[in-house]
This record gives sequence, structure tokens and C-alpha cells, in this order.
Amino acid sequence: MTAPVNLLDFDLEGLAAYCETLGEKRFRATQLFRWIHQRGGSDFGQMSDLAKSLREKLAGAAHVTALPVLSQHASRDGTIKWLFDVGGGNAVEAVFIPEDDRGTLCISSQAGCAVGCRFCSTGHQGFSRNLGTGEIVAQLWFAEHFLRRHLQTGERVISNVVMMGMGEPLQNYDRLAPALRTMLDDHGYGLSRRRVTVSTSGVVPMMDRLAQDCPVALAVSLHAPSDALRDALVPLNRKYPLAELLAACTRYLAHAPRDFITFEYCMLDGVNDQPEHARTLIELVRAHAASGLRCKFNLIPFNPFPASGLLRSPAPRVQAFAKALNDAGIVTTVRKTRGDDIDAACGQLAGDVRDRTRVAERMARQRSVVLHPVPAGAARAPTPAS
Ligand code: SF4
Repeated sequence: MTAPVNLLDFDLEGLAAYCETLGEKRFRATQLFRWIHQRGGSDFGQMSDLAKSLREKLAGAAHVTALPVLSQHASRDGTIKWLFDVGGGNAVEAVFIPEDDRGTLCISSQAGCAVGCRFCSTGHQGFSRNLGTGEIVAQLWFAEHFLRRHLQTGERVISNVVMMGMGEPLQNYDRLAPALRTMLDDHGYGLSRRRVTVSTSGVVPMMDRLAQDCPVALAVSLHAPSDALRDALVPLNRKYPLAELLAACTRYLAHAPRDFITFEYCMLDGVNDQPEHARTLIELVRAHAASGLRCKFNLIPFNPFPASGLLRSPAPRVQAFAKALNDAGIVTTVRKTRGDDIDAACGQLAGDVRDRTRVAERMARQRSVVLHPVPAGAARAPTPAS
């Protein structure tokens, strides 16, 4: 006997294929998909316009199941953070951030992360496993329908989804892609391509695949203007250095006309926030603008945690950095910190990860390494053993 399938695992094509195995036509899959994602349905018995025969076939063979919620915290500013149990001692987080003109849900793609960025709380936890498509979608499914009930609105609450929670989404591409399609599908969440953002530390081959398959908005965690410094902050840079990364960004934009890349830049006191870093960054962007790179910068105030050994840049330095970029014609904003009081701010999502790799061990060794300001344009750092 085969185990019941969780229908959150399917995009519409997948659900149509599944329904076909039950001898059902495609329009039945569309009805079912709308019940699940647009109406938050999980009880087949209540899906009144589905044929009784289909409801009977689904009962016992399939289910629609959210992730168990381990905790929920609401911030004074309206931000809500959920901790979801994904089994095996692992938990991942999702955060809802309400604003006047939008409601953004930040969701996770992996339990932990293998990239190990120096300034990232998730990176310090190590890596356990990829989330399945259904586990990625379940965060949105739960949050959207919970918020609708909670806010007593029949309308859509979540207008934007950002894949900026735990994990490197492009290292889980095969499960991510159907989840993105479900978010964009008019029969699913109906989000526009520009309102779904994938954030990557720079997995170049998968950026090219995403451009071909599903060119949603792209955010790239840059954090440094030179390879020497980026090698130390974002270890993936040793594999895909800046020139390759920025060339991939330019290729991506060929598939997303009129879009731009958002470069995320976490401001670290004395590490990457000096005037010479701004100057090198401007030169870097200008060098690639000629070949079609369109971008804006989002400066992120660092949320310090003890294991990082790093400090937040003072606000005046962040403002001066933003001014230097803006004066050079590069649109730059400073991210407002939200959910500080519930540890929901960017880079603070830690969840609970049973590390099955040596990432956490390697990060622990790095804790004692103090990062000194690296002169922009300095020689490339030797590659540490990973
Ligand atoms: S910043 Fe992103 S890619 Fe880097 S360790 Fe954190 S979750 Fe992973």
C-alpha cells in the first residue's frame, strides 16, 4: 500500500498528473488546486463542487497537511514569526511583515544552510536537509489562511513572498521551482513575478536555470566589493567569484526585461563599511553596467549575535555609505529593521537544526577569527580548507 501523498507537494501540473493517475480530468485538478490554495481547504468532504467519486478516491490516498507549529511570536510592530517542526529534530522559521501597502512573507527553503556566511545566524547552525516542495509551500499556505482568519478578511493578506528565510534556495532548486510555480499560478496564490523574490548567495548555474524556468525577482547577497573580502564573508564566492556572479546577474536580466537585481549588503562595523569599500563597489557596478547590469542596493543593518564576532556599523556610517552609492547614481536604500523584539530581523532566523554536516564545526572554528577591514582591491585571500 502506498503512503498518502500531501497535495501541497504539487504545482498545478503535478496535481493534474496525479489526478490523471486517479482517472480524473485536468479541470478536476484545477478545482482541487483552487480549493487548497485559494480557499485553504484541507477537508476533501467539504470541497462541494468536486465530484463525489473524486472526493472518495482522495480520502485515504491523499491529504493536505501543514507543518506543525512549534511556536508563534508577534512583535509590537505587527511582525509575526512562526517556528515550524519539519521532523528529525529540525525546525524552520517563517516571518510575516505587514506594511501599509503590502504584506510580505519570508520563508525558508532548507533546514539550516551549508553556505556558512560569516554574518548569518542560520549559517552558524550548520545544515540538515533540503525542505520538500510541500514544506516550502506549507509555510505560505498556513500563513495566508491563518492571517485571513485572524484578520477576519476574505481577501488575500500576503502580497509578496521572499525566499530569504533559512537556507540557500538555489541549492534546493528542484523543490523550489514547483513551489514558485504554485505561488505564481492564477489558480494558486496568483502572485506576480515581481512580487516573489528569490535571494541567493550566488549559485551561478542555478541562477541561469531560474532565469530560463521562472524569472522571479532576484536578490543577491553581495556584502563585499572585492573577492578577497567576499571570500571571507560568503564562502561560496571561492567557487563563483564576483566577475562570474555579476555576469550571471546580467544574463538573468535578459530574461526579466525592465527588472533589476537587488544587491543585499549587510553593514559590518569596520569590515565592509568604509569609504574605500563604497568606491570599489561603485567601480564594480559601473564596470558591469556597460554590459547590461541594472541594480539597486539594499543596505542591511547587521543584527549581531555572539558567535559571529562581528558588530553592527554605526548608523551614520551606513547613511554615509548609502549616500556615496546614491550620489554615484546607484539607487540605495537602508532596510528598516522589523521584529527586533522577537528575533525576526534579517539574519536572525535560527530555527533549530540538527547539523548533519561539518558546517557548524567549521563555523565554530571561525568564531575566533576577527575580520579586520580588508583594503578594497587587496590580493585574493587563500582558500581555507572547507
Ligand atoms: S546568508 Fe543565506 S546563504 Fe548565507 S548562510 Fe545564511 S541562509 Fe545560508
